[in-house]
Amino acid sequence: MRHTTRDLRRRNRAALLTHIYHQDAASRLELMHASGLSSGSVSNVVSDLVNDGMVAEVGSEDSDGGRPRALLRVRPEFGDVVGVDIGETHIQVGLFDWTLRARATATYAIAESLEPESVARTVLGGIEKVTAEVGVDPDGLLGVGVGVPGAARVGPSNLVYAPTLGWSGVRLDELLRRGVRAPLYIDNCARTLGQAEMWRGAGRGTSRTIVALLGVGVGAALATGPDASGVTSTTSEWGHTVVEVGGVACRCGSQGCLEAYVGAEAILTSYLERPGSEPFEATDTEARLAELAARAAVPGPAAEVLDSTAEYLGIGIANLVNLLSPDRVVLAGWAGQTIGPVILPAVRAAARRHALYYLYDQLRIELGELGSDAVALGAATLPVVRILAMGGPVPANAPR
Ligand SMILES: [Zn+2]
Repeated sequence: MRHTTRDLRRRNRAALLTHIYHQDAASRLELMHASGLSSGSVSNVVSDLVNDGMVAEVGSEDSDGGRPRALLRVRPEFGDVVGVDIGETHIQVGLFDWTLRARATATYAIAESLEPESVARTVLGGIEKVTAEVGVDPDGLLGVGVGVPGAARVGPSNLVYAPTLGWSGVRLDELLRRGVRAPLYIDNCARTLGQAEMWRGAGRGTSRTIVALLGVGVGAALATGPDASGVTSTTSEWGHTVVEVGGVACRCGSQGCLEAYVGAEAILTSYLERPGSEPFEATDTEARLAELAARAAVPGPAAEVLDSTAEYLGIGIANLVNLLSPDRVVLAGWAGQTIGPVILPAVRAAARRHALYYLYDQLRIELGELGSDAVALGAATLPVVRILAMGGPVPANAPR
């Protein structure tokens, strides 16, 4: 395959920009070592990046005996991205600078309608709100990333399938294009969350991390890379792998799926069916699960339900471990965050019982670190990944 000079130049830019982006600060010498490029090439590319306003020299570090080395860092002021979390229970729109520092957030409950048109309108309203709040031109955004629950197929057809929202083949991109001129990316929220935890959270420093996303639906993403810079991630419909023969009916039409045992609605239903359970005070799913977690502090039906949840979750994780041998499993998602602190020890114990010991021994199971903003933050990484891969901003409406 022949590469033109321009391709080569872009590849070099992408490699150096990616390295600078993922390090706190990098010197030209470090960049030479990391990229294998000559000192001259590094200098040329770095001056381009500085001239374009993407990178700045910030102070210097002492080198042994020689003159101090200038350190390079990406400039947060270069531009902003939006990350959107279309969740099962809420929509969150976050404005971040492109180094992923949060600048403004808007959150909306999805109480009334899950209709794609209505969801898209809410998202567009949110983008207007957060950009207006900090005085950013929405058309000048570097990109907009959207995380949706369920399998988002982003191919030539751009169709979104999100069973938890009742969406089957929705052209979300077309609906959002009515108000978004910046490059637009849509992906599965387990994947965006995985990327967020890998870049900024509990997956940092690992080479194979599985992020288990617990909500009403249940999903998992595998993120791999020598460090965060090489992340590629794949998602799976982990929630619909069977953990019980002839088990509880699942909304996918099968029986005994993991989601039918560890999904938020499934946990609440299982609790209410138990003798001795008491009605919830709250009306929404998130608050009810929080009530359940609080009730589990004393022995009784709530504690029993969460014990059982931990066992099934441990089995689900053990299956992932035996298939994919990760070095880290991160329990995330809003439900993971709510019940995770209560069930983590039991989940670890169950996973240890069910996984091959030599695979379990190289593994740590941890809670996600990024809290409720993680999916929006992860969605904001989608345009950034593209910018890093291109070595610079992606033109609006460019083919993906
Ligand atoms: Zn299922």
